[in-house]
Amino acid sequence: MTSDVKEVLISEQQIAQKVRELGERISADYAGKDLMVVGILKGAIIFLSDLVRSISVPLKLDFMAVSSYGSGTTSSGAVRILKDLETSIEGKHVLIVEDIVDTGLTLRYLLENLRSRGPASVKTCTFLDKPTRRTIEVHPDYNGFEIPDYFVVGYGLDFNEHYRHLPYIAVLKPDASQK
Ligand code: 5GP
Repeated sequence: MTSDVKEVLISEQQIAQKVRELGERISADYAGKDLMVVGILKGAIIFLSDLVRSISVPLKLDFMAVSSYGSGTTSSGAVRILKDLETSIEGKHVLIVEDIVDTGLTLRYLLENLRSRGPASVKTCTFLDKPTRRTIEVHPDYNGFEIPDYFVVGYGLDFNEHYRHLPYIAVLKPDASQK
C-alpha cells in the first residue's frame, strides 16, 4: 500500500472475483453474437484488460477517449470526443466498458452517440457505480461494485494522472489529494 492511501475500499481479491463473475455473465449473454467491446480511455484500461480475458466468446476491441466538462457541478455537462473509434460499429453488438458512473453524463452521451451509428445493440459495463451522485438517469447493464460518494483511485482510476497502477480501489489521504 502506498503511503498516500487512507483506506483500501475494494481489494485485489474482491476485484478478481467480481471480474470473473462479470465475464461469465457477459459470455452467456453474448453467445452467438458479434461482440464489439468499446473501452473508454484512460480509466477503463485495467478493468477492460482483465474483463476481456474473462470473456469466452469471440470479440473485437476498440477505444474512445472523452472529456467531460461541468460534471457534477453544472447540469450543462458537455462531453467532447478526444479520440473516436477506428472501426464501424454498424450491425455490431456494442458493449461500452467504463471505469465509473458518477453523475451519468458521460455514459448517457456515449450511449446516445454510439446508438446513432446503427449498431445492433449497445449495452454498458462499468466497474464502479456511485448511484447517489446521479443527475442523469442511466443504469449500467453490468456493474462491478456500488460505492458511496468517495473520490477513489486505483485499478485504472487516477488523481492528476497518479495512482492508476494501484491494483486495488482506494481512498486517498487528504494531503495526497494536494498533488
Ligand atoms: P460522470 O460523467 O458519470 O459524472 O463521470 C464519469 C467520469 O468521472 C469517470 O469516467 C471518471 O473519469 C470520473 N470520475 C467520477 N468519479 C470518480 C472517482 O471517484 N475517481 C476518479 N478517479 N474519477 C472519477
